[in-house]
Amino acid sequence: MAEYHHHDHVHLDHAPISDHGHEPRAEYRVLERAVRELLIEKGVVTAEDWRRQIELMDSRNPSMGARVIARAWVDPAFKQRLLADAKKAADELGIDTANAPRVMALENTPTRHHLVTCTLCSCYPKAILGIPPAWYKSEAYRARAVKDPRGVLKEFGTELPDNVEVRVMDSTADLRYLVVPLRPAGTDGMTEEQLADLVTRDSMIGVTAARNPTSVS
Ligand code: FE
Repeated sequence: MAEYHHHDHVHLDHAPISDHGHEPRAEYRVLERAVRELLIEKGVVTAEDWRRQIELMDSRNPSMGARVIARAWVDPAFKQRLLADAKKAADELGIDTANAPRVMALENTPTRHHLVTCTLCSCYPKAILGIPPAWYKSEAYRARAVKDPRGVLKEFGTELPDNVEVRVMDSTADLRYLVVPLRPAGTDGMTEEQLADLVTRDSMIGVTAARNPTSVS
C-alpha cells in the first residue's frame, strides 16, 4: 500500500501455509545469535534489556485486543476514540502501546469486511494482540489474501454474502491494523466481560467473524 514500506525486522522466506509452525532455519538462528551477541558486546543493549523485551512481548496476547473490542461494542464514545486513535484508546484500558507503531482500527459493517495481511512480511499490531500466528507469516496467506481474499476467508470457514465488500489491508512497519468485528446478534444482555470471550484473535485479523454466543460453552 505505502510506497515506503520498509521493515523493522529481518525478512525470511516463509514456508507455505501447510508447512507452518516449523522451527526457523538453522542459518537464521545462527544469524540471530550473532547479531544479539554483537549488540550486547558493543553495549548497544544489555542481556537484561533483551530478556525483558522478550518477556514483555510474550506477556501480550489477543485477550487484550478482545477487551478493547468489547468496550467498543458497549461504549459508542469509546468506539469513536478507538477509530480515531487505536493506541490511545488501548492505553485507556491499561495496554501499554507507548513504543509501538501506529495502529488503525477498522470497523466491519454489515456491508464491509476487513481482512488484514502484510504482503511483504509479518507486520502485526503486536502491542495489542501479541505475537502473530504462524499462518499469518506464511507466504501462502500473504500472497493469497490479496489475490483471493474470499477463497482465504472460506478456508477459515467464513462465507460472506456477495453484497459484502471485502477490503484487504496491507500492513506496514509504520501502520498496523486491528479489525473491529461486528457484534454478534443475540448478545444484548451480555456483560462486557462475556462479550470479550466472543472476540477471537482471528476475528481481529479479519479471517473470521466474532463467535456466536450460542457456540460458547
Ligand atoms: Fe511486515
